[in-house]
Order: sequence, then structure tokens, then C-alpha cells
Amino acid sequence: MSVRVRLAPSPTGTLHIGTARTAVFNWLFARNQGGTFILRVEDTDTERSKAEYTDNILAGLKWLGLDWDEGPFFQSQRLDLYKQAVQTLLDKGLAYRCYCTPDELEAMREAQRAAKQAPRYDNRHRNLTDAERDAYEAEGRTAVIRFKIDDDREIAWNDMVRDRVSWNTNDLGGDMVIARAANAGEVGQPLYNLAVVVDDIDMKISHVIRGEDHIANTAKQILLYEALGATVPEFAHTPLILNEKGAKLSKRDGVTSVSDFQARGYTAAAIGNYMTLLGWSPADGEERFTLEDAAKQFSFDRVNKAGAKFDWDKLNWLNGQILHALPVSELLPLLVPYWKEAGYQFDLETDREWLEAITATIGPSLSVLSEAVEMSRPMMSETIELADKAKQQLELDGVTAVLTHVIQQAEAAERFDAEVAQQIINTVTQALNVKKGLVMKSLRAALTGELSGPDLIQSWVVLHQRGLALGRLQAAIG
Ligand code: GLU
Repeated sequence: MSVRVRLAPSPTGTLHIGTARTAVFNWLFARNQGGTFILRVEDTDTERSKAEYTDNILAGLKWLGLDWDEGPFFQSQRLDLYKQAVQTLLDKGLAYRCYCTPDELEAMREAQRAAKQAPRYDNRHRNLTDAERDAYEAEGRTAVIRFKIDDDREIAWNDMVRDRVSWNTNDLGGDMVIARAANAGEVGQPLYNLAVVVDDIDMKISHVIRGEDHIANTAKQILLYEALGATVPEFAHTPLILNEKGAKLSKRDGVTSVSDFQARGYTAAAIGNYMTLLGWSPADGEERFTLEDAAKQFSFDRVNKAGAKFDWDKLNWLNGQILHALPVSELLPLLVPYWKEAGYQFDLETDREWLEAITATIGPSLSVLSEAVEMSRPMMSETIELADKAKQQLELDGVTAVLTHVIQQAEAAERFDAEVAQQIINTVTQALNVKKGLVMKSLRAALTGELSGPDLIQSWVVLHQRGLALGRLQAAIG
């Protein structure tokens, strides 16, 4: 059997990290099996679907390197196919028109609540007589189409992640609406479960891989496959992504869209790597890998059933590892947009050497790209403001003597590089018989206005070459 999988995002929001993770698992499985990965945009909800969300989703998938082989297909362009399927179910007597009004349905639910029963449609229009139907239509009522779900049936499947899953049809809420209200004789807009099954049959999907929040839908969909006379595909329900408190990751947790992560300065490599680790791990326990590496070994045997907790520290660590391994020539262009956004003034061509030196200085300290703004501020700005702690440092006994010596040495130096800077620190430490820490801390406070930051020696060299170091040292003792 050839493996055909699909990602079926609804463009009602930006590419959510949960959808991205589903995309990753589909892609990994397709690539591992030499199969086909299909992209289908589920945009039948015309009120909530937006073209800008579709663009965001496609751009996010591309950015992550999750290339698809077929599509994107758009459900909004396939409505006839779904309507035909609804008609087939009507013709077979497996679906029917329900004329209940919203008030009637509400009264029914109210009665169920009062009787402490679970809310469900009680199938009251399943067996209307022709006369009853005619009467409703004469009243001008519209009708939804409901698919018959018989009670007391167990639906079971062998899930690739969760093993045997079973569901009793009593818990599916009664006969299900598969098409929205329409006038007499017409079929209204087809709904999610119907459209998905029609598409998955039409696109010959062999494995449906999606989040575990779809398990109840799967039970309903299996009934639709049967009713439409199609083979039921394999299912894999992947664990939910949880926040640090163990609840489902949601908008309230701040960053949830792939584009948010991108804006904060995570690399596609880190996000792809981390998404994969949210639920899967390779047999060798290695935590850093590319999607291509993971695809070679991916299988659902190693996907967890339990929810996967989102661990910011691990993501930051992974992102840092990836950034630290980048050569300056590749890291610099990634930093430029953040610097521009911060309003720093530079010319990419004439200032190239200086920008490269800054990149080399801050690179090893970065865990996300956006941190570059604060880390490079003392090097990017003509002037600095001293933080309170830096002021206190500069007021300590002996600091004026230290910095005065440093200035003399720096002025006397014929050239100025990391080696010379290091020598100056050593010489001053010995000459004044002070602790090296005092010299380093005072220098950092004077040069950057902070007590922590990227490598001090390198920062000093960059500032010196830019003609900013001596003035700051003098100002600190001034
Ligand atoms: N449009 C559905 C969603 O975004 C797709 C679910 C499925 O994969 O069947 O949740």
C-alpha cells in the first residue's frame, strides 16, 4: 500500500504550534515511508477563514522545511463533491432532513439537563412521514441533513499511537448534522466530518495523523467511511502539547504560532527539532537532529501517548546550540532585521567589519535572535546609560585608579586587539595589586553600563575599534 498522508489545517488563525507538530509527524512519516504528503486547506467556514491565515500557514510550513507533494487543495473549491456525498447518503436512506428549529432543540436540551441526562439530539425527525415533512416545508422551515448513528454500537480501531481505541455510539450525541440548513429539497453547506471523510477517500489517504482532540471525530468518521462504502484508513492520534502547568497549550501561554516563534528569533531548525521531540524521541536518545535525520528513523512505536509538556528551557538550549554553530557570515543576516527594528544606525556594506565583529562577540551568548538587540546595544549606540549596579561598581574604592591605569595603557598601546586587551588587564591587576575581578567588572561597567553581557575582551576590542572605548572609560572616572 502506498502511504498517503495529509495535513488539513483550517485557516481560522495563524499556524498554531500544535498544527505544526501534526505537520511534522505527517511529514516525517511520509518521508520515512517514501510516501506522499498532501496539503489540504479546510476553509469551508467562510466566516472565520481568512486568506491571510492561509498565507501564514503556507509560509510557516515552508519556513520549517515541511514541503508537500500535492496541493494545497482548498475545500471551498470542492463543495460539489461533498454535496454529492450528502445526496448519496440521503438516497441510501442513511441520512435525512431534520426540520427542528433552534428553539425546539434548546427545549430538548433543557429537558435533558433537567433529567440529568447528557445532551444529545434525540433523533426525533429520523422517521418523519411524508405528510409531516410536507407540513414543515409548508411552514417554510429549513432543514439540516443528519447522518444516522445507531445506538449501542462499539466503534474500535487500532491506533498507531494509542493501540486499541473504542467508542460507544451512544456517546456521539445522536444523529449528526453533516450539512447546514437549506431550503426544501436543497443541501446546505457540508460540515467538517463529512467533508474530511469525502476528501480523505477522494485523496486516497492511507494514514490519518492528527491531534488526539479529534478522537471522537474519528469514531463518527469511521461510520461515514462505512456508509460511503470506503476502506477505513489507519489512524494515529498524537498527544496534545501542554503548557508548563500541564494544561493544553493555548493563546494565554503567549507565544503559540509558528510566526511568533520566528519573530522572537527561533530558527526553523530548532523549532522543527523541538516539535519532533514533543512526543517522539529517537532510539539513541539524541536530542539534536535535523528533520531529515529524524525521518530516517521515525516510527509511531516511539510516539508517546501522554501529553507532551512544552519546555522553554529545552527549546532555548536547542536554539542556542544551533545559533552557536552558525558561522558569522550566516548569523549576521539573521540579526540585521532585529537591529533595524531596534532603530540602530548602520550601513551593511561600509560597516560590514564592525557588524561582523559584533556578531562574533554576541553570537556565543545568544539563545534567541531577539536577544541581540539588548546584547549589542552598548556596541551599537554612541552613548550608554549606566545601570544602577554599574554606577555602584564605579564608585567602589580603587576603581578610579584601576581605570586611570587602563586608559594610560590603552593610549600607549601601538595596536589594540584581544591579546593587548588581556595584557592590559593583567598588567593593571598586578601593578595595583587588586583582584582581577575588580578590574574586569569596572571595565565592563564603564564600557557597557552593565555588569553582565557578552565576552568583555571582545566587546572592548569592538568598542575600541569603533572609537568608543576611551571616551567611556574617561567618562567613568570623570
Ligand atoms: N481542519 C481540521 C483541524 O484543523 C483537521 C482535522 C483533521 O486532520 O482531520 O483541526
